[in-house]
Amino acid sequence: MTDEASRDGDARARPDCDDSPHILSEQARGAEDGTSGDDAFHAFWADVVADEIEARDPDDPIVIKGGVSPSGVAHVGNVNEVMRGYFVAEVLRDRGHEVRQLFTSDDRDPLRKLPRKLANADGEIVGLGDVDAGALGRNLGKPYTAIPDPFGERESYAAHFAALLEADAERLGVPVEMVSNTELYADGTFEDAVRTVLSDLEGVRETLGKYQDKVDDEYVPFNPVCAECGKVTETVTAVDLEAGTVEYACTDLEVGDDVIEGCGHEGTATFREGKLPWRLEWPAQWDVLDVDFEPFGKDHAEGSWPSGVDLARTVFGIEPPVPMVYEWFTLGGEALSSSAGNVVTVPELLEILEPEVVRYFFALHPKKARDLDLERIDQLVDRFDRFEEAYFGEVDDEELTRFAERAYPFVVGGSPGIDRPADADPADRVRFPYTFAAVLGMVEDRELREQLARDEGHVDDDTPEWAVREALARVERARTWAERTDNEYNYRLQTALPDVAFDGDVAAALDDLAEFVAAGHDGEAIQAEMYETARDHGIEVADFFEAGYRLFFDQPQGPRLGEFLGELEREFVVARLRREA
Ligand SMILES: [Zn+2]
Repeated sequence: MTDEASRDGDARARPDCDDSPHILSEQARGAEDGTSGDDAFHAFWADVVADEIEARDPDDPIVIKGGVSPSGVAHVGNVNEVMRGYFVAEVLRDRGHEVRQLFTSDDRDPLRKLPRKLANADGEIVGLGDVDAGALGRNLGKPYTAIPDPFGERESYAAHFAALLEADAERLGVPVEMVSNTELYADGTFEDAVRTVLSDLEGVRETLGKYQDKVDDEYVPFNPVCAECGKVTETVTAVDLEAGTVEYACTDLEVGDDVIEGCGHEGTATFREGKLPWRLEWPAQWDVLDVDFEPFGKDHAEGSWPSGVDLARTVFGIEPPVPMVYEWFTLGGEALSSSAGNVVTVPELLEILEPEVVRYFFALHPKKARDLDLERIDQLVDRFDRFEEAYFGEVDDEELTRFAERAYPFVVGGSPGIDRPADADPADRVRFPYTFAAVLGMVEDRELREQLARDEGHVDDDTPEWAVREALARVERARTWAERTDNEYNYRLQTALPDVAFDGDVAAALDDLAEFVAAGHDGEAIQAEMYETARDHGIEVADFFEAGYRLFFDQPQGPRLGEFLGELEREFVVARLRREA
């Protein structure tokens, strides 16, 4: 659960709470990808979690759940809910269990305020101005499943959002079963849970009262949907267990400083025509879905988890699932926030990273706070490459190798980025260092990219075709990264001669440099010669480099030019320096 707002508006931060579910043992938590000597040690945290689940002797299929409240934008923060559960599911499957991975959408929750941003069906973020914001405004207070899709494509706002999450999971190669809370209420799955709660109002109040100030003797934890205006209401005036109904009044709903006005209607609702407040809905989900394991963000660890555990035992008579709290990660050093625009969606991320690199990020220890820095995404890719090398025994790092030996097969197995012939030997794979891939991205031509990679020794005659194809796919991503961040790799080699003119001294210097290159020199020598040539002709070094950048990139600046030219085909460089082609 990753939503930043409290689920039913009353989560109280309990920063000093020490009964939060730190289930991961010290040995696994200590080191990043840790190691220790004893036999029971697991180098991969998902094995530690799987041990805890197995220790409870669950029936197959083992049920792993994630969940989310529909909001405007599905972003990479939500991926925690998907990928953390996925690795545990895969480890359990590896141990011979049947596993279902569920993803619940809390879609009977009311829309409490207008989102500032929304994601369209392609995962692109748009502002409210791009949709019918008026329709959204008129539907405040109604369940997400009762609000039209702002993009007019799905049956509801909730369905639109759920489809985004499901598509993101698919893009990462994770099969999840989406579950709609609204459907669980409507089809009667939750009916017994609601009855259980309303049959034991005193017990529920007593337990819940330990965690929430608002619980008094009048409190009825059921929110019917008003038959008149369709809004979720909070005022239940009577409960009829025999008939399976409640009486309610459609009163105002307070949302922070704002009020969503009720229509005043007084009516009757069945146990299927409303919802439990989040603090009870969560344990009710564990009950009806037989959840064995659920990862969640630390907001819940301090809020609804302790009360959920209590209510599961005292009200529903079940054991709560094995929990796992994951640290949130930051994006460029700042908290993820779709309203503040500090957010990246999965489709955006996959334009610059292979799916297996994204999966790797979520295979790292969930207890450690991390930053996803798009400006320096090359560092994450470098770490992935090293992790992969460790799996293939190419790195002298025992700790990393133990982690990679266990986790790597789960990171690449099922990744949509890994598509190799059946007879491929994975050890033959080629990964261009990401910044080198960015340099290759400066040239348009695939053949030239491959030639440059051969010149640098990344590809040779023994490299299988599939490995070349995979390696070159990274070039496209690195090029997109250069464009997005407009960094030092964001230049394009001009295949046609740009429209440029130079004065006599600069022109003569370019001709001299052409002679030097034609004689056959490597990039470093060309770089040094550029300084010499400029001095010989009495021109500023900066002016000479600028001339070069204009010739090759049609820009006043660029990468280390001499070394870059050393990578290119000699005839092309010579002709361009002579302004002939
Ligand atoms: Zn109403």
